[in-house]
Amino acid sequence: MDNKILVTQSSMPDYQEYVDEIKKMWDSKWLTNMGPIHNEFEAKLKEYLCTDSIDLFTNGHMALEISLQALDLKGEVITTPFTFASTTHAIAKNGLKPVFCDIKYSDFTIDEAKIEALITENTCAIVPVHVYGNVCNVEAIQKIADKYNLKVIYDAAHAFGEKYKGVGVANFGDVSCFSFHATKVFNSIEGGAASYRCEDIGTKVRAIRNFGIGQSMVAHVGTNAKMNEFCAAMGVCNLRHVDSEIQKRKLLVEQYVAQLSGVEGIKLSEYTADTAYNYSYMPVVFEDSFHKSCTQVIEDLAQNNIFARRYFYPLTSEFECYKQLNAINSTPVASYVAHRVLCLPLYADLSSQDVTKITDIIKR
Ligand SMILES: *Cc1c(COP(=O)(O)O)cnc(C)c1O
Repeated sequence: MDNKILVTQSSMPDYQEYVDEIKKMWDSKWLTNMGPIHNEFEAKLKEYLCTDSIDLFTNGHMALEISLQALDLKGEVITTPFTFASTTHAIAKNGLKPVFCDIKYSDFTIDEAKIEALITENTCAIVPVHVYGNVCNVEAIQKIADKYNLKVIYDAAHAFGEKYKGVGVANFGDVSCFSFHATKVFNSIEGGAASYRCEDIGTKVRAIRNFGIGQSMVAHVGTNAKMNEFCAAMGVCNLRHVDSEIQKRKLLVEQYVAQLSGVEGIKLSEYTADTAYNYSYMPVVFEDSFHKSCTQVIEDLAQNNIFARRYFYPLTSEFECYKQLNAINSTPVASYVAHRVLCLPLYADLSSQDVTKITDIIKR
């Protein structure tokens, strides 16, 4: 099964580069708890993400869950159902109620025009997602947040290294959370980070991340979400190559777009000149006017050993555990997209011949 093409393939440094990086640990025997490689990774990320506050976590989910806890929120949180399970779970785990807002058909991010109608006296925050690396309308969302005194926590798991109008995405909202999971555009095997506007939040988050242990005593109900040195070392190595990885992805996405745009019934994500993209995903919506259904496309590809993924289906609002919220029919655009969208294979080492093969199978 060597020639299987999966939806993604993890970026990895040369074996020797990683070995050189972890060799330091055999000398120091410092494996976790904010070690030297962790701190080096953190410093390099601050520079790369153009922010002066970054804290590292075991994974992106814990970055999100702990950030929400640190903000001391209560009540309802307006969010998108068109996302990975993590976003909604992080809200629910904090005893908050997710209120699902519809998305825009243009770029699949939360529809800022539909947020205000969902605000009640119990609303405390907005959790939008820069889905597929498409940056939300950060200006409009901030305006609404300021008007109603709400916190904004961005799930930036898909937006690593992106800039909007020249500003790093880590700088929008009160908090932005990133994921460095093996399947993401940039990985530290498992890992995540959060960036904050207000340093008080950072101090609290760092305590919660380490069992609530702060300066003197335990003031918060904590957990264990520290990044270990092996993961940090992978991050340090991969960060050296991430720009060239993104450049390779860009060429592949441009090829996909050239070969699929203008095809009747195929809807691609809209790209805007304001965003410096990381080309993390290649989403395609197969509208009803396309000559095959989304499931037919999956089957045709699978017969050729090519595996696309239904990111994101079903909507998180349709999960068994959120059904009682009764939100299912209130997000028609999200529902439409979820039933028809596929993410096509995309990773730096995918060949241009494979992209042609994939688009040929789709169009055939
Ligand atoms: C991957 C992902 C997460 C969670 O990140 P992990 O590092 O896997 O915990 C959260 N939100 C979205 C949208 C994601 O895609």
